[in-house]
Amino acid sequence: MKESPPAIFALYGNPVGHSLSPPMHNAAYKKMGINATYCSYCVEDLAEAITRIREHPLGGVSVTIPFKTAVIPYLDEVQDDARTIGAVNTILHHDKGRLRGYNTDWTGVVLGLEESLDIRDKTFAILGAGGAARAAAYGILRRGGSPLIVNRTTARGEEMAQEFGCPFYPLSEIGAIRADCLINTTPVGMAPEKGASPIVTGILANFQWVMDCIYNPLKTQLLQDAEVAGCTPINGVGMFVHQGAEQIKIWTGKEPPREFMRQVVLEELGAQDGD
Ligand code: NAP
Repeated sequence: MKESPPAIFALYGNPVGHSLSPPMHNAAYKKMGINATYCSYCVEDLAEAITRIREHPLGGVSVTIPFKTAVIPYLDEVQDDARTIGAVNTILHHDKGRLRGYNTDWTGVVLGLEESLDIRDKTFAILGAGGAARAAAYGILRRGGSPLIVNRTTARGEEMAQEFGCPFYPLSEIGAIRADCLINTTPVGMAPEKGASPIVTGILANFQWVMDCIYNPLKTQLLQDAEVAGCTPINGVGMFVHQGAEQIKIWTGKEPPREFMRQVVLEELGAQDGD
């Protein structure tokens, strides 16, 4: 009997060159015995890339920077949590030929945090007001925690805080904040700003846990400083693995091997370190 062709999944973003999603997804499908392949496309024209999902056809697409919000109008359906967050990072091309948008970043943040702490009744200072910050605030609220927003641009931070019903502090006032956990959702600490930290070291003692959504490098300057200050550091790998695992669940209906996926990511990061 002729074997059916592999299911095809893809990553849409710009740039996509350094993403670890392809090795992580492909290793997971192989381990699960699923005949599927996952590749990355550097998207220049989003409308054309969406047409490609239907024509090829692709079973599902991961969406990353800068298209997570821009993609929404192109979809037939958007799940409620993705609509509230205002960002889609996962598209399912379901059997009726329709494209449905999901957000798995919020599950990623929550499951990443829950590897180290219980969210309920804890306070979280979220640094940033972009897509990752909105996913974090949404997830923390869903789990019974209390987020507060700290952002460089006051208008954007205030608008987000109002939408999620939580307090806002300008970045210049971060020294006055006490919270159980600080979450960095800014890109400060990753290339091209490796070695930089979004905040000064002196205030880290105001937090018990410090999470960085960045996973490359594994130990950002912020997490190094947090360790010195006696905080428990949480890197972005857990979030990355869980957001990808949730995508696989949406596309295949099967539970992926999360610990195996984490090992694949850690090995890839180790190999890149040696470059
Ligand atoms: P985004 O929508 O562009 O938002 C970035 C936020 O960071 C904005 O609020 C911006 O503040 C702030 N910011 C940028 N540069 C800053 C600086 N120099 N100083 C202070 N604040 C600064 O980006 P995003 O999609 O939320 O992604 C943010 C980070 O999360 C990226 O590093 C991404 O790789 C990471 N991420 C990780 C995962 C994972 O699975 N681990 C998943 C999603 C995202 P303004 O409002 O003032 O511009």
